[in-house]
Amino acid sequence: MKPREWSAARMAGVGFLSRRRHGNFIDGRECAPSHDAHLPVVDPATEMTIAQAPDSAAADVDLAVQAAQRAFEGKAWSGMRPAERERLLGRLSLLIEEHADELSALETLQSGKLNGLARAIDVGAGAEFVRYMAGWATKLEGQTLPNSIAAAPGSSWFTYTQREPVGVVGAIVPWNFPLAIALWKVAPALAAGCTVVLKPSEETPLTALRLAELAMEAGFPPGVLNVVCGRGATAGAALAAHAGLGRVSFTGSTPAGRAVGHAAVERMTRFTLELGGKSPMLVLADADPDEAAAGAAIGIFFHQGQVCTASSRILVHRSLVRRVTERLGQAASSLKIGSGFDPQAQLGPLVSKRHLERVLGYVEGAKEEGATVVAGGARALEGGCFMQPTVFADVRAEMRVVREEVFGPVAVVMPFDSEEEAVSMANDSPYGLAASVWSRDLSAVHRLVPRLKAGTVWVNAHNMLDSNLPFGGVKGSGMGRELGRAAVESCTELKSVCMSV
Ligand code: NAD
Repeated sequence: MKPREWSAARMAGVGFLSRRRHGNFIDGRECAPSHDAHLPVVDPATEMTIAQAPDSAAADVDLAVQAAQRAFEGKAWSGMRPAERERLLGRLSLLIEEHADELSALETLQSGKLNGLARAIDVGAGAEFVRYMAGWATKLEGQTLPNSIAAAPGSSWFTYTQREPVGVVGAIVPWNFPLAIALWKVAPALAAGCTVVLKPSEETPLTALRLAELAMEAGFPPGVLNVVCGRGATAGAALAAHAGLGRVSFTGSTPAGRAVGHAAVERMTRFTLELGGKSPMLVLADADPDEAAAGAAIGIFFHQGQVCTASSRILVHRSLVRRVTERLGQAASSLKIGSGFDPQAQLGPLVSKRHLERVLGYVEGAKEEGATVVAGGARALEGGCFMQPTVFADVRAEMRVVREEVFGPVAVVMPFDSEEEAVSMANDSPYGLAASVWSRDLSAVHRLVPRLKAGTVWVNAHNMLDSNLPFGGVKGSGMGRELGRAAVESCTELKSVCMSV
């Protein structure tokens, strides 16, 4: 079957798509955008338009924030018994799983990702994360603290802290894991008693809209979860700058994150930024080169390299570099490229034509600067936004393909001679999202982990996340943490109480 046939077959089975032209989801119902303007949602495997979603203006964002404020202040959600919030979040997680076929088909159609990946991550891990966060609703606690207040003689004081929801959380998400990353922001906010305005990427708005409908079906009060679609420069910027937010949680590129951070600081709105990466994978001299090459292939080609933590810089001890490069090149050349619905496909299309051209620009630039193409280096298939998995050798530290986030299936392999050099190469980046170390030498691993400037370090693995493990970056990769306790606590303010007793 050709990509077009795979897509047509799946579209026919997704009732949500029969509506074609979607509205925002505000205050518990679908709501047409104020200027009746829409943007096409395009299937990158076929380049066919599959739906239209709102191109919202600031007025639409304002409506959504007002609805979320009413829902928050009305106490229907923030005043609800935590156990009841936990129950509703649990119900939402089950509904996500019950709609796995539909949600994963929507993800593959709008982003091109492999359907198995959409099922496992956006839907499967996403639903599991909602359940994990549901449990936090009943466990947010303060502390009773001893004090040494010396006011009047004989006075006595009782001091404690309590956590209170920050109010409305504005959640701005990218297109690479549209449902999963939306849930990373929505679930902790709701567990903490906040209400939410979610702004999905203009490329991939469909699962966010469907999620809001499922939340209503689960029994969430209107206005608790609102979705406003549109472009970053308009709807996204209006949300980040809105005075009605208690917190803004952003995932996306570093330049857009910087703009969101500036807007938030202007209003003194709390913020979390999860940004780009250029994550190194360090293969030490004692590592098994074949295992490391297989790990590198997964690290960089998983989801076409459109992963913020992708192992885009493979740093290998000189004694192993030839073997690892050869094996990684062979792995790249053997991957089957095809529609995300093709069960044999191991690599789907990139998210859009615009993004494909951007990635190809980096590849051509690297060739012009003298890098050696070990594998790939061009578009793949006819029609659709497909790209060959690409491996470069003979690169230099100052090349753009080494320094900048490509966000595609493009790896560079670079040799090092000593542990010291490996650390300095790994940290020579404006980013600091993640890194991995491949070695069985425990002492070397323990020496390296604290020296790597990264929010996460994996050992003999790459790209592993867990609901309970905080995730986020240092340097240009962002501020704050998602997942785990850190995520739900970030949606609260810590209030200190000091009582004369
Ligand atoms: P992007 O920055 O273009 O867009 C992300 C979201 O922000 C979209 O919803 C977009 O509409 C919105 N946006 C864009 N400009 C904005 C502005 N000025 N104000 C407010 N909102 C704005 O990123 P993308 O292309 O959708 O996603 C890819 C990027 O996301 C990569 O850099 C990747 O590394 C990063 N990412 C990071 C993580 C992480 O957890 N660190 C996870 C996934 C993706």
